[in-house]
Amino acid sequence: MSAIQEHRVRDAQPSADTGRDRIIELNDVAVTYEAQRGEPYTAVEGIDLFVKEREFVSLIGPSGCGKSTLLKVITGLLDPTRGRVTVAGGAAQEARRRRLFGIVFQEATLLPWRDVQKNAGFLVELIRLTGASGTFGDPEELLRMVGLDEFRHNYPRELSGGMKQRVAIARALSIDPAILMMDEPFGALDAMTRDNMNEELLRIWRQTQKTVVFITHSIRESVYLSDAVYVIAGKPGRIVERVPVALPRPRQPEIQTTSDFQSHLDLLRTLLERRQR
Ligand code: ADP
Ligand code: MG
Repeated sequence: MSAIQEHRVRDAQPSADTGRDRIIELNDVAVTYEAQRGEPYTAVEGIDLFVKEREFVSLIGPSGCGKSTLLKVITGLLDPTRGRVTVAGGAAQEARRRRLFGIVFQEATLLPWRDVQKNAGFLVELIRLTGASGTFGDPEELLRMVGLDEFRHNYPRELSGGMKQRVAIARALSIDPAILMMDEPFGALDAMTRDNMNEELLRIWRQTQKTVVFITHSIRESVYLSDAVYVIAGKPGRIVERVPVALPRPRQPEIQTTSDFQSHLDLLRTLLERRQR
């Protein structure tokens, strides 16, 4: 890619950043795992990262660079060893207590003895059991949104990989979270199902207006879906760059054949390769 192309990609940041609409912000975050035996291990270091409200932001980087660690830190499952994590103006733990996060992992982790509807409603059922109240998504509507209304009485063993992930997405959205955290959600799917799920996710994101943090290994997927992509690399993992994706929305698959799309891929590839050496 030429220097000019590179500039165009980088200068295309859409609006001025005042910092006020940041729903997630990490400042100088480091995580060091205490080992049972041997040396403590620093998984990430010097992480400055932000996500604005309703943005779709991806984290991309090789296995072991600390992506899942960052997800744990953002969702308050793990305290950083150093630095500060702010979510919706407060601590990550507080955001967690307020149930601001819906999380989707690579494995759908459905309960085999529950049908689609009961799997999708599982979290809300648990929360209600504790006597807590809250605003919850309408189960019928959620199943319709993820395209599973006709399968509501089917069991996990009767579902394809893509359909299982749809249930996992419905379950994550059922607690009406502000932020959808997705850790390689389509990593185990075949290429065609994955493309299809990309379309579905864009539609769901548009409909629900959630903030999405999306972890992936796929450069193509990150560009196609995101407003911005954080490139993470190294051991310990550090942020190489935040690349704004200056492609118009709504996006259709055809956009992937454009030279603009290609420039984004080239830039990300270069940034990732530079750090592997
Ligand atoms: P990624 O999701 O990018 O593949 P992870 O965040 O899972 O990376 O892991 C980053 C690094 O931290 C890896 O080297 C991993 O082995 C290490 N790690 C992750 N969790 C723990 C833990 N609980 N204890 C010790 N090391 C860990
Ligand atoms: Mg991971």
